[in-house]
Amino acid sequence: MIKAVFFDVDDTLFSFQKAHRAAMVPLCQYVWEQLQIPPEEFVLAYDTQYRRMEEEIGPQAAIHNRMIRFLRILEEREKPLSFAPLLNDLYWNAVLDAGEPEPGATECIRSLRQKGYFLGIASNMTLDWQMKKLDKIGLLPCFHRIVSSEEAGIEKPHRGFFDLCLRYAGCSPQECLMVGDSLELDILGAENAGMRALWYAGPEKLSAHPGFSHYSQLEDRIALLD
Ligand SMILES: [Mg+2]
Repeated sequence: MIKAVFFDVDDTLFSFQKAHRAAMVPLCQYVWEQLQIPPEEFVLAYDTQYRRMEEEIGPQAAIHNRMIRFLRILEEREKPLSFAPLLNDLYWNAVLDAGEPEPGATECIRSLRQKGYFLGIASNMTLDWQMKKLDKIGLLPCFHRIVSSEEAGIEKPHRGFFDLCLRYAGCSPQECLMVGDSLELDILGAENAGMRALWYAGPEKLSAHPGFSHYSQLEDRIALLD
C-alpha cells in the first residue's frame, strides 16, 4: 500500500519550461540594453554555461544556480560583475510571474493530503527558488518535506537522493511513490532505489512506461499500485 508520494517540481507541478521561455524575453532585452550582449549570444552562453558547470562541478545543486551562471557569462565578457544579482532577480521574478501549476495538480495534491498520504518534494535544484515556486502555485503548505539536491548533496537519479526521501517518509521503498516528468531522473532513479514510480507524461507526450497525462488520473493510478 502506498503511504508516501514524492513529486518532482519543474514540469511536474510547476510549468517551468513555459515560465523560463517567458522570462528570457525581458532578460535578453535588459542584457542587450545594459550590457550590449546580443540576445542570441546570451541565450547560447546561458545554455553553454549550464553544460560546462555540469561537467566541471558534477551532479550537485550548484549547477542550477543562476547567479553563478550569470557571473561566469559576465566574467568571460569583462562586464561588471555587479550585474549578476540584477540578472538573477530579473530572471527569477519573471519565472515566478509566468509559472503556473500543471493542469489539475492543485486539486490532486490537496486531495492526496486530505486522504492522509505523506507528501514530499524531490527536486534537483537549490532549495530557495523551489520553495518560492511552490508558494507561487499555492502548494507549499501541502507538503510534509521538501527534499532538494542541495540538501541531499547529490542529484537524482543517484540512489543517495532517494534514500534521503525514504528516511524522511519513514516507510519502506515499496510504500513510497515517486511522480515526475523525467524518465531518467525521476522514474528510473526511484525504481533503482526500490520505490514505485509514475511518469507524468503531460498532455502532449506518450510512452509505454506506466504513467498518466492529467492529474485527474493520478489517484486511480495510485489505487492500481496498492
Ligand atoms: Mg522535472
